[in-house]
Amino acid sequence: MTHIQINIYCPHCKYAEPFTRMLASCPNCGETYLDAQYHLDGPLGWPENLRSRPNSMWRYRELLPIHDTANIVSMGEGMTPLIHSENLSAMLGLKHLYLKDERQGPTGSFKDRQASLAISTMREWGINELVVASTGNVAIAYSAYAARAGIKLWAFTISSIPPEKMREITLYGTELVKVTGTYDQAKQVASRFAASKGLPLDRGIKGIAAKESMKTLAFEIAEELSNIYGPSRHGSPWRTPDWYIQSVSGGLGPVGIMKAFREMEQFGLTEGLPKLGNIQAAGCDPMVRAFAAGQPTAPPILDPKTRIATVATDVPGIAYELLRQDVLDYGGAFISSTDDEAYRALKTVAQLDGISVEPATALAFSGLFKMVREKIIDPDEIVVLNISGHTFPVEKHILGNDLTRDVDLTPAAHMAIPREGLLAALEAVDRRIGCVVIIEDDPNASQLMTRILKAHGVSEIYRAYDGQAGLDMVRQIEPDLIVLDLMMPNVDGFEFLDQLKSDKQHSHVPVVVVTAKDLTTDERQRLSGQVQSLLQKGSLINDDMLQDLINEKLGDR
Ligand SMILES: *Cc1c(COP(=O)(O)O)cnc(C)c1O
Ligand SMILES: [Zn+2]
Repeated sequence: MTHIQINIYCPHCKYAEPFTRMLASCPNCGETYLDAQYHLDGPLGWPENLRSRPNSMWRYRELLPIHDTANIVSMGEGMTPLIHSENLSAMLGLKHLYLKDERQGPTGSFKDRQASLAISTMREWGINELVVASTGNVAIAYSAYAARAGIKLWAFTISSIPPEKMREITLYGTELVKVTGTYDQAKQVASRFAASKGLPLDRGIKGIAAKESMKTLAFEIAEELSNIYGPSRHGSPWRTPDWYIQSVSGGLGPVGIMKAFREMEQFGLTEGLPKLGNIQAAGCDPMVRAFAAGQPTAPPILDPKTRIATVATDVPGIAYELLRQDVLDYGGAFISSTDDEAYRALKTVAQLDGISVEPATALAFSGLFKMVREKIIDPDEIVVLNISGHTFPVEKHILGNDLTRDVDLTPAAHMAIPREGLLAALEAVDRRIGCVVIIEDDPNASQLMTRILKAHGVSEIYRAYDGQAGLDMVRQIEPDLIVLDLMMPNVDGFEFLDQLKSDKQHSHVPVVVVTAKDLTTDERQRLSGQVQSLLQKGSLINDDMLQDLINEKLGDR
């Protein structure tokens, strides 16, 4: 059997020693950010020896820093499903969008992995009381696992976390301290408290357990993608996605993910590293600002303003430096979205794909929408987005009247016709669209668009199957929007547009064109100024998976 030596390693000065004691800093240079390293005297044995393992993140135990498996505190965390997005991906024009469903962990977020490993580590080192600072989900997950391990927990959180989450934390018997201030201040209070009581303080991203736990997300993603797409191009058994997207607060998730992909490459399991989509809240986005300004370190946000407490890290520290380097080396993006954009995305995702997430995750979706709109993501790329939480702590707020019907009329840019998904096209027109006429000769395509529009809250949808019928219908119904196919028998889309635009009463109705072919310059010119946006039909109906979806799932609605 292969023997595995686990070292504690300082990336700053390259000091290493066997992992036989807890260190708060490097004994050589004093650096507080430390890593784990694994040295094997034989093959790792993956994926063969994983087959008989239990269905939790602990099946990857060779690359986790626990010495004695008897110390593992587990509730079946990890091995969450990788869900293919159906309607949302169709709407965005993405062919391979997957949601890593961390909602299905014991406390509903990917922090369950961190809690399981961190609390197991505490047990291994004989610790029975612990202090942790958190923006919410770490405190919930640690509380559950600490309760199970008989460890007393002190959690320090910011006061903006939803009261439902606070009750959940205290339910497990945790001593909860609310700090009115920024998250960085809460961390400082926690640190002083731990020092004064002589208690260990969870070291988060600087310590070993947190990063190592996040690796299991990447192991699972790579393994599951190989089940879907087969091995990598050069024969490695598993697959690296093109993108890993997550809303980022302290940056632990993506830092751990990248460490895992490095290790998988080192052990011949995958090829290449993913691009990172790091999404932050516009009211607290130190990484986005620093990256845009080309700064190697991120200055703190002095006055964080987001209602999404989960992502309210005002001082990102070393995580930014690591993620910045990864984005520079492998590609990726730092994107911010507003709270309101996140709340809107939350509803879109729930209504299109039946997936309810917490606002921090909705923020990642809204970042994804932007990345698609700005063509940062290619329609053919494999995209994995980490989803967590449940919607209910903020439901009232999100579904309140003030947020459902705000109107944002973006003037259409008529010079170039944007190519984008149906969602983006709708948003560019007006979110208050109540009545749409779809003019499309392919009934399958027409049905899929109907479904997407319904999910987006459009209540009246009429379908015409050629241009002449479409014109008659538009004159009769006076819709708010026309969705138009170009290639149709008799009166085609171009002719339809000519007639519509010469009809004074209806020339103002916005038109979204759906086309299956690449347009010539001449054709583009004819459309320019006439239509709101242009949709690539291939992204809607030519894809095999979507064709199946249309045939099997939608039937004859
Ligand atoms: C913790 C958390 C984040 C932020 O994660 P980091 O990797 O620490 O930046 C985002 N979303 C959810 C749901 C979380 O629980
Ligand atoms: Zn060092």
